[in-house]
Parts: sequence; structure tokens; C-alpha cells
Amino acid sequence: MRTAAVVTIGTELTTGLRQDTNGGAIARALRDAGYHVESITALPDDAAAVSVVLSALMARCALVVVTGGLGPTHDDITREAAAHALGRPLVRDAGIAVRLEDLARRHSAPDARERMLRQADVIEGARVIGATSGSAPGQVITAGEGRLVLLPGPPAEMHPMLDEVLASESAFAPPVRFRCTGISESDAQARVEPALADHPDVTLTLLAAPGEVEVVLFAPDAPASLQRARQAVRAALGIACFSEDGSSLPETVIGLARRRGERLALAESCTGGMASASLTEVPGASEVFLGGVVSYADALKSALLGVDATVLATHGAVSEAAARAMAEGALRLPGATLAASVTGIAGPGGGTADKPVGLVWFAVAAADGPTIAAERLLLGDRAAIRTRAAATLLDLLRLRMEGD
Ligand code: ATP
Ligand code: MG
Repeated sequence: MRTAAVVTIGTELTTGLRQDTNGGAIARALRDAGYHVESITALPDDAAAVSVVLSALMARCALVVVTGGLGPTHDDITREAAAHALGRPLVRDAGIAVRLEDLARRHSAPDARERMLRQADVIEGARVIGATSGSAPGQVITAGEGRLVLLPGPPAEMHPMLDEVLASESAFAPPVRFRCTGISESDAQARVEPALADHPDVTLTLLAAPGEVEVVLFAPDAPASLQRARQAVRAALGIACFSEDGSSLPETVIGLARRRGERLALAESCTGGMASASLTEVPGASEVFLGGVVSYADALKSALLGVDATVLATHGAVSEAAARAMAEGALRLPGATLAASVTGIAGPGGGTADKPVGLVWFAVAAADGPTIAAERLLLGDRAAIRTRAAATLLDLLRLRMEGD
């Protein structure tokens, strides 16, 4: 696998005044294009330090991508540092200079004009990219076996240029990503590793977040092996996997509901509308998601969802009976064909020996079938329990729709 490195430049990054989001974004894109990213280095606006690091990285990487420090101000030193590292001069690109002159004319001070024009300086032999916007262009320099790519710092300028650079790399097999829920990271690993035993050229990465585990397979140089591994891993993950195309859980639920002609309604207690909010993030959700009820207090569970007060008094609001009654109440909302409910103890207070923090009841009620309830003991702090509960609610809807 070819090796790449990412360098982000700016004293604002090394002092923590600004978050380096470019570094991770570029590393992801490089990985997706089939590179092994050996490092992400943040450096201050110090030409000597940048030059030393670039020389070292160019000596061992097929591709080095640098962002930041291409602008017109005195602290923008990337061009000079890269030229020094490569031992090549900077030459002024006449076409870019013409475009910049218009901008430069607006500055009355001669030194400000000259600083603007410095953005037209390119390393000898560089291919210039994205030079249309009038600000600093990107540069791609081939040197020996390797390539050095200089991109501006502002993410909105950087991303299209990076896409352009990597567009020609698409011959490599992109990674396979399985998004899963209802399974722990270690369980996912235990299922997947045996499935990969016959595929030593496929690299496995597991990414866990509350309510989701992503299983990523890389084999940029072995597309056939990756395809076989994909089938084996898909089978091993079973119903835990909700998407292979990058779709989120809410997108998967909306897609299934659309295909089946369902109209969804939710009754949420401990999640306070989080599941509903995540469904409405999906463009076009209005075609299938009707809405729901955030019934946090018992009185509202009764008044808005018709949950019998004696059910709440007898079994409590966090109970199978309450979850069933809430889902059935949501199903009575106008137009609903499929409804789901969630009621649980998110903590940190409110837990008992019988009903500990993290206990959550769910139910799914359908116009064309029996109501099904499920209980989970979710881990984590209040935020994690709520996130996991919202994901579980959506997952139960997914399983219900996939199941028949
Ligand atoms: P400009 O012409 O805008 O000066 P530049 O290439 O010189 O472009 P910088 O001066 O290094 O870029 O950064 C400009 C802005 O871009 C920063 O203030 C910051 O908002 C954003 N930026 C730079 N580097 C990063 C990074 N690594 N992650 C996220 N944002 C960044
Ligand atoms: Mg700058």
C-alpha cells in the first residue's frame, strides 16, 4: 500500500486557537483513495521547521498533502518552505498574476499589492489547481517518485482541490463500510475476524460511537479479495448491519418506509424527541414521517397518547405495558401505519434495584400486525443512554420493516 502523510500549517493550530479539521478530513480522503496515512503533523508558521519536515516526509512517502499558509499575509510561508525543501525556485504564474492584479489594485499600499501577487508564485514545474477563485491556487509538484500537494487552509477552498487531486486515483478499490447497530464493538470484532481469516490482504478497522459500530474493510490493491471478504463479513454481521452504502440509520429507516409505503409516528419519553429529530434530518423525510409526541410526564402520556393512568400507576412509566400503550397511542395518530415508542431511565438519578439507570423499554405497533415490545439495559452516562435509546428505537423500526 502506498504511504501518504498530511501536514497542516498554522500557529493557530499548534496553539490550539483553532481546531485542525483539515488533517482528519484529508487523511480520510487519502485512506479512501487507497493510501496508508503514516502521520498527520501540525506545524507553526515557521518556514524552517516546515521545510525540514517536508524534506523528511518526501523522502519516505508517495504523497504528501499540505494545507494552510498559502494566502497573502506575512505568516503564510508554505510556498517558500516547500520550494526550499524541494530545492526548486518559485516562479510567478502570469495567468494567476493577471487574475490577482484586479484584487491587488484595491489595496493602495504597494507592499500589500506585492503580498497579494505572491499568491501567483508557484514552485517550478508545479501543476496549478483551482486557480479560478482569485485567491491562492493549489499546487501539485512531482519530485522523483513522490508528489507534494499544497492546498489552502480554508476548508471550503481546500476540499474541491483535494477532490480534484484524488479523482485520478479511483482505480483503487474503495473501502467497504458496514454500519451496524445493536452490537458491541467487541462482538462485531468477534464475528468479523473469523470471516476475514482467509483474506490476509484485507485490513479491518472498527469505529465505535454510542449506538453504532462501523466495520471498515480496506484492500485498495486487492479488489477481488475485498469483494469476497465483503460477502463473508456481511453474512457474519447478519441483521446488525443496517447499511453498506454509507446511509445513516435514520436514512435507512426513511428509505425502508418509503419503499413499503409506511407512515411513521413516534412516542418518545426519555429521548425527548431525539429519534424524531434524527428522522427529520433526512431530506424528504416528510413523505413518510408524520411526527410524534414527546410525552415526558405521565400526565402527557395519558392525555396525548391515551395511556391508561392505571397502567402507569400499576407498572410505572418505564415498563413493557407503558411502552406498548405509548406505541399504540402513536399508531392512533392520524394517518400512521407504523409507530414506535421509547420510555426509560436515562439517569443519573431515578434508578432503583428493579429498574436501574439505563433500563429502557421500546415497542413497535403496526396497523397490520401485533405490537412487539423490547427491553434493553443501555450503558453509559445520560447522554450516551439517550443516544443509544434513540438509535435502538429506529433500529427496531428498521428490523420490523425488514422482517416482513
Ligand atoms: P488564506 O488565503 O485564507 O490565508 P491560507 O492557505 O493561507 O489561506 P491559512 O491562513 O493557514 O490558509 O488559514 C486560513 C483559515 O483557514 C484559518 O483561519 C482557518 O479558519 C482555516 N484553516 C486553516 N487550516 C485549517 C485546518 N487545518 N483545519 C481547519 N481549518 C483550517
Ligand atoms: Mg493565510
